[in-house]
Amino acid sequence: MDLLKERIVKDGQVEGSEILKVDSFLNHQIDVELFNEIGKEFKRLYDQEEITKILTIEASGIGIACIVAQYFNVPVVFAKKTESRNLDKETYESEVYSFTKQKSYRIRVSKKYLNEKDKILVIDDFLANGKAAFGLKDIIDQSGATLKGIGIIIEKTFQPGGKVLREQGIRLDSLARVKEMKDGQVIFE
Ligand code: 5GP
Repeated sequence: MDLLKERIVKDGQVEGSEILKVDSFLNHQIDVELFNEIGKEFKRLYDQEEITKILTIEASGIGIACIVAQYFNVPVVFAKKTESRNLDKETYESEVYSFTKQKSYRIRVSKKYLNEKDKILVIDDFLANGKAAFGLKDIIDQSGATLKGIGIIIEKTFQPGGKVLREQGIRLDSLARVKEMKDGQVIFE
């Protein structure tokens, strides 16, 4: 998606060789107009698919998932990272290792909000090693729902997540695919 790639080149900040910061339009300050264009693009890509729910992971996935969901007219469910007395007792759970935080955490979704009739589009901001995506897939599998595809805003193809997901036959659509980050520059596939 050219608009997104142009924005990454203009406003993205490369941290070392592995982390791309996009706080000014995606992860901290949010460019809602850009999110709308991203929503339209995922709707175009999944127009032939029946989608009943969008699943993401808190916190940074929620904003983008909500905007995408408006184009599908379906609810968003987000996996929670913290245990809380508010959360229903009956949950699907999985373990995720965070690449950016370098520690594991549990994610959970109430059994009320996913079931075997659901056809799920997963949306997330970044794909690196694929741990978040596999955690969400694990939860979908536990619920008996069908994973229709994974929509990613920025995939870093020098990390293995995308390759492993595609090898498993999972549909993966990434709007910007970064193959390398060098001398502060972002190089796309
Ligand atoms: P994975 O689970 O695929 O290893 O990592 C995906 C998650 O880690 C994303 O949800 C995102 O929050 C975070 N992440 C991974 N790489 C980056 C990065 O380069 N920049 C930012 N801002 N987040 C990242």
